[in-house]
Amino acid sequence: MRRKRLNTILLVLLLLILAPALLYTGYEFSRLSKSEEQLSRVYEQQLETVLFSVNQYATDITGGWINTFERTLASSSSSHAAIAEVPTEIGARETIRGLALLDSSITMRAFFSPVDEETGTDALRTGLQDSLETHREKLDRLLRYKTEDYRKIEPFLVQIGDSIRVLALVAVLSFDRGQHFFGVLCLDQEDFIQRVLGPKFRAIASEDLLLFCRDKRTGNIVVSTADLENMVREDTQSRRLWLFPDYEIGIRLRGTTIEELAAERFMQTGVLFIAVDILLIIGAIIVFRNIRREVELAQLKSDFVSNVSHELKTPLALIRMFAETLEMKRVPNEEKKQEYYSIIVQETERLTRLINNILTFSRIESGRKEYHMRRTDLNTIVEKVMSIYGFHLEHREFSSEIHLDDRPVIVHADEEAVAEALINLIDNAMKYSDEQRHVAIRTGAREGQCFIEVEDHGIGIDPRHQKRIFEKFYRVSEGLVHTAKGSGLGLSLVQAIATAHGGHVQLESTPGRGSRFRLCFPVFKSDSQHSNG
Ligand code: ADP
Repeated sequence: MRRKRLNTILLVLLLLILAPALLYTGYEFSRLSKSEEQLSRVYEQQLETVLFSVNQYATDITGGWINTFERTLASSSSSHAAIAEVPTEIGARETIRGLALLDSSITMRAFFSPVDEETGTDALRTGLQDSLETHREKLDRLLRYKTEDYRKIEPFLVQIGDSIRVLALVAVLSFDRGQHFFGVLCLDQEDFIQRVLGPKFRAIASEDLLLFCRDKRTGNIVVSTADLENMVREDTQSRRLWLFPDYEIGIRLRGTTIEELAAERFMQTGVLFIAVDILLIIGAIIVFRNIRREVELAQLKSDFVSNVSHELKTPLALIRMFAETLEMKRVPNEEKKQEYYSIIVQETERLTRLINNILTFSRIESGRKEYHMRRTDLNTIVEKVMSIYGFHLEHREFSSEIHLDDRPVIVHADEEAVAEALINLIDNAMKYSDEQRHVAIRTGAREGQCFIEVEDHGIGIDPRHQKRIFEKFYRVSEGLVHTAKGSGLGLSLVQAIATAHGGHVQLESTPGRGSRFRLCFPVFKSDSQHSNG
């Protein structure tokens, strides 16, 4: 019944505190990963914009060069002479491999190449001618655009020999009385990337970003804003260069990756949430344990009330019954009469003991219990108690042995309180013995301690209960104990009394074999002897 109630409380606690906390943590985790995704997306968009602007820049520069090409031709009467000046006009002699002017039927009208032993002027010229002829329809499209007043630059790759590829940028120029020509600007791709795009890269790349350009065929890095071993990582964004089909530009964060950044934040927040949850769980456990203790105490108290009522009722009923029998003079002989008298005395003593226990308990609980400490011999206390209690032991067919220390066992104690503790121990020894009815009482002084011990050969105490039996109202609710009545106060009083004397109670017990309770006191010191006379 009680367990069921506790389980309900535990369930309610879990539902009220833990479930919302855990749900909230789950919700936060999912939101967290969503916001990390957003963060990733923003980064990616930013990188995308940078890549776009680099591409745009390359287009603008080459567009400007084509314009200069056109202007130079327009300002001169001889296109042969003018074409040789263009590289200087543009200011990029090293990058330009060659220039050509073709009429609308793709016939070469002029060609110029700054001296280039590697590529060979002729090789470039023929290569260029071949390449343009195979792409005639593209050139026608350029012409059509031009009639619509739109100039587009078309890139072509010209293969010279096995390894060299020159980029030919073709645009329609119009300078000779509105006549249309194809102007071709042949560029060394790597040179352009290094000289023109390199500075732009460095201008764009902030502390966090790393930009690079690489040859798609070989994987070689042509230009980069940092000298790192692993330029390309998982989080690298790359786009091809619009005008340079062989090359691509890549961009990535310099230090940690976006995923790492996100994971780091995820971890930090996650740890925080888990810590809060653990605190909540600890809190819930503490609250639950307190509630459980309160519920148990309430249960023990109500057991106590019913036990005490029973304890009062039984002796009262006996006293009444025997007193009435005596009063009605129905007793057959003198022997029986004596027996009835002694039962009445015994039962009144039992009542007195119970009431004394309750009174002492209430005094201890309210802090009103006073101890009258003086020099006392434990042997004397045992003798006094046994002079009254020996009779009870005998009466209930207990054999008893008493071993008192040869010398007086002197302690600083309240004689009455120690006697009360001893009576409780003897009482328990009798209550919790079954067939083996034997009680041994010893006194002694050992290892700086004085003691009285009470040993029985009774039912013993299971180790699980050994600590708890000293708690107030606690009773073992299994085995023979069921039939032995009690208030659950005895041992808590014994312990309180021992503690008040600066001592403690030791217990050795084996279920089924018996128990030994030892009341230990500190040895009497001579200076306290003086102060107490
Ligand atoms: P009460 O005897 O009134 O129940 P106590 O505080 O004296 O209360 O004892 C608490 C419990 O400890 C008892 O209910 C009993 O189960 C156990 N106990 C005490 N003394 C002994 C003993 N000598 N042998 C076995 N069990 C004991």
